[in-house]
Amino acid sequence: METIKLTINGVEVKVNRGTTVLEAAQAANIYIPTLCADPDLEPYGSCRLCVVEIEKIRGLPTACTTPATNGMVVHTETPAVNEVRRTSVDLLIANHPMDCLTCRQNQQCELQQVTAHLGITERRFPRTDQAFPVDTSNPFFDLDRNYCILCAKCVRTCDEITGINAIDLAFRGYSARVATFGDKPLIESTCKSCGECMVRCPVAALTPKETRRPIHEVKTTCPYCGVGCQMYLGIKDGQVITVRGDRDNEVNGGHLCVKGRFGIAEFVHHPERLTNPQIRKNGKLAETTWDRALDEAAARLGQYAPNEVAVIASAKCTNEENYVLQKLGRAVLGTQNIDHCARL
Ligand code: SF4
Ligand code: SF4
Ligand code: SF4
Repeated sequence: METIKLTINGVEVKVNRGTTVLEAAQAANIYIPTLCADPDLEPYGSCRLCVVEIEKIRGLPTACTTPATNGMVVHTETPAVNEVRRTSVDLLIANHPMDCLTCRQNQQCELQQVTAHLGITERRFPRTDQAFPVDTSNPFFDLDRNYCILCAKCVRTCDEITGINAIDLAFRGYSARVATFGDKPLIESTCKSCGECMVRCPVAALTPKETRRPIHEVKTTCPYCGVGCQMYLGIKDGQVITVRGDRDNEVNGGHLCVKGRFGIAEFVHHPERLTNPQIRKNGKLAETTWDRALDEAAARLGQYAPNEVAVIASAKCTNEENYVLQKLGRAVLGTQNIDHCARL
């Protein structure tokens, strides 16, 4: 791939042709504020916070939509740039709660980071009395439009990444908001509850119902199907409380479906989860050892003819486990009756 050189704030940066100015700055660890840019989404250029000055180019182009070119000279922190950014943020927060200390997103919020960078501590424009009801209909996350800054990351995620298109930006002026078809609650829409929009929301508009934050994380593989998505389980007090996809993994690139993102903690800690082998005697299940359970299963299976036995494999098993199970069915039990739950 052809490489090009440009200068950003006096620092020479070498990147591949096709890189945007924003990506080039990020590669050189130069912070340019953004609220609508996401490495997984197409450039959008709507929040206008990544404006920069580029020598020999008129105006203030957005770094996220401007391709870097050889010899380009970029300045990211001039008075003109910061005046435009400041006005953009003033408009964004005109109707924003700004109750950071009690906000679910406190210290993880991109708007908070941007206002701190620009030294904004209070509103310049008067607040209106516009207020939206909070949509709590989804079992896993809430949509509080009062915090929404209309960056459209959620809408673009649902279109570009999940392909569901459950939400869009609707209405105009102060009534503009993220809405489902017919402006119904999320639970009545085509939303698949994958939470991909939630993880990209830069503010507290889309937040998980689980508000605790983990103390440490453990990397693992999602147990739900054979795709093998990699994830980090967030742990607090010995319990799984959060799940996030591993962005560096080639299998899922950080993406998760509803089962992986929201379905782990409940079953891992469910009081009815079986954690020991059990044998049913006189209609009642009783705990036993693995040796006894396996002996019992082998003895009972031996009482049946091959065509009286069927084996159902599981999408929760690894390929290797499913391979061994079909070997057990065909070579040991002598049956061709083998199927897989993924076909149901
Ligand atoms: S969304 Fe961010 S800026 Fe807004 S109140 Fe919460 S922490 Fe503060
Ligand atoms: S949870 Fe998934 S399907 Fe539902 S709106 Fe968000 S991205 Fe779309
Ligand atoms: S809900 Fe979040 S991601 Fe969606 S438009 Fe509002 S601020 Fe952006």
